[in-house]
Amino acid sequence: MYDVAIIGGGVIGCAIARELSRYRLRTVVLEMCEEVGFGTTKTNSGIIHAGHHSSPDTLKGRLVVRGNQLFDQLFEELNFGFARIGELVVAAEEEDIQVLDSLKAQGDAKGVPGLEMWDRQRLRREEPNLSHKLLAALHAPSAGVINPYEFAFALIENAIDNGVELKINSPVLNVKTGKKAITIRIPREKIQARFALNCAGIFADQIARMAGVDDFSIHPRKGEEYMLDKRLMGLVRKLIFPVPKANSKGILIIPTFNGTMMVGPTAEDTDDRYDVSTSYGGSEQVFASVSKICPSIAERDTITEFAGLRAVSNTNDFIIGPTRKKGFINVAGIQSPGLTSAPAIAEYVCDILKDEGLILEPQKEFKRQVPGPPRFATLSLEDRQQLIKLNPLFGRVVCRCELITEAEIHNAIDHGARTLDGIKFRSRAGMGRCQGGFCTTRCMDILAQRLGVPFDKITKRGGDSWIVLDMANKQHPKTRGQKTKAR
Ligand SMILES: Cc1cc2nc3c(=O)[nH]c(=O)nc-3n(C[C@H](O)[C@H](O)[C@H](O)COP(=O)(O)OP(=O)(O)OC[C@H]3O[C@@H](n4cnc5c(N)ncnc54)[C@H](O)[C@@H]3O)c2cc1C
Repeated sequence: MYDVAIIGGGVIGCAIARELSRYRLRTVVLEMCEEVGFGTTKTNSGIIHAGHHSSPDTLKGRLVVRGNQLFDQLFEELNFGFARIGELVVAAEEEDIQVLDSLKAQGDAKGVPGLEMWDRQRLRREEPNLSHKLLAALHAPSAGVINPYEFAFALIENAIDNGVELKINSPVLNVKTGKKAITIRIPREKIQARFALNCAGIFADQIARMAGVDDFSIHPRKGEEYMLDKRLMGLVRKLIFPVPKANSKGILIIPTFNGTMMVGPTAEDTDDRYDVSTSYGGSEQVFASVSKICPSIAERDTITEFAGLRAVSNTNDFIIGPTRKKGFINVAGIQSPGLTSAPAIAEYVCDILKDEGLILEPQKEFKRQVPGPPRFATLSLEDRQQLIKLNPLFGRVVCRCELITEAEIHNAIDHGARTLDGIKFRSRAGMGRCQGGFCTTRCMDILAQRLGVPFDKITKRGGDSWIVLDMANKQHPKTRGQKTKAR
């Protein structure tokens, strides 16, 4: 019997798992994918919002500011990519200035630190590459950028280090609530827990319905993002926002933690919970919008693109709390700013569990630190030479674009990578200009050797996302040996 079963290993499930691992509890995370963070968590803008965009009358509006504040300590403890680079909301028209004023008033009332109005001259001095037609900006110094997947990996690694169990490839098939326990069925196993936390992202309403809770619905809203060539690095120094729209914060210019510029996201409602395709229309919309703010950004600079699905609830707010089914707690509708709010949501859920009767006795031997991975590309020549002396695998470059060495690929596997994306998001191999053209087969080779599986069993992100086909058998290993139907 577990004390808590967390359904869904996105950033929310991982943050809660880490928070619960401070206490003497038996906790399990059930994740349907091959690795944690492979849902919306890896497909967002990677912004730690300052908190002035959302109304204090909403739960998301309250949790976002606390979430933002918690990141300095988390960064110190868990060593993921994070920097407070600050944010500007820019006014292109006279009437936009009123919107900036009301955003500032909202932020001041919520305790967002350091909000400041910049006039045209200040804006031009600080961000000379933005359009000279812009009139003013609202500066929020506490906004930051983060590598969201690194954050999720570090949270779960630390949680596991403190005793949490993680079951990957474990889609929840059924949830039965009872007087004393909740029974959760996953393939080949039944899990019993006193409490179940529904952190299943865009599938949270389906999980709730399994448990007999049908009082909310989730509506996916797709956002397309475009990564630009590193030659544009430094074009802007801060996050650049237009004035917000009714259903989104608008299309942004994002100098990501590692320096690659990203533009997006779009906001398009969809019924398809699996559709993460990008589109010609999306790209047109993104570049038409950002080129008005920063004229030197052009579509031809795109090196790759992706899309993610926001889990928008029918209340348009986070839905966090106990339900009429004993022990079943929703942590649903976690759309933006869910990434920013994750640490605050984790605290909030612990308080709910306490109110519901869970005894939270601190673990004296709680370990707070996760060591950061080696980052060869960021070191001085002397440090690189030292490292190569200690481990010659640092002398073998696997990814040329990002200067990632073989030792770093092994480190990624040591820390849980089981797929090509797992390696990419832990080490950055494959994230550069050639998008894995050079390093994919090298990474696959190393992964196949380390996992002791054939080359053609390596997948991009688990499931049937395999990359090569065994031509001798002309069948994927999953189906090899099974009789094929005659045509
Ligand atoms: C385009 C875009 C941009 C965004 N930008 C930002 C931003 O800059 N800043 C910010 O704060 N927020 C941002 N967000 C929002 C943020 O990404 C989300 O709020 C956050 O990732 C939600 O995390 P989650 O854990 O709830 O969901 P997910 O990451 O989707 O995790 C849910 C997990 O549940 C698993 N799961 C589902 N069903 C089952 C099942 N039956 N059994 C087992 N496991 C299951 C999934 O596999 C998944 O891993 C953005 C979102 C999008 C789409």
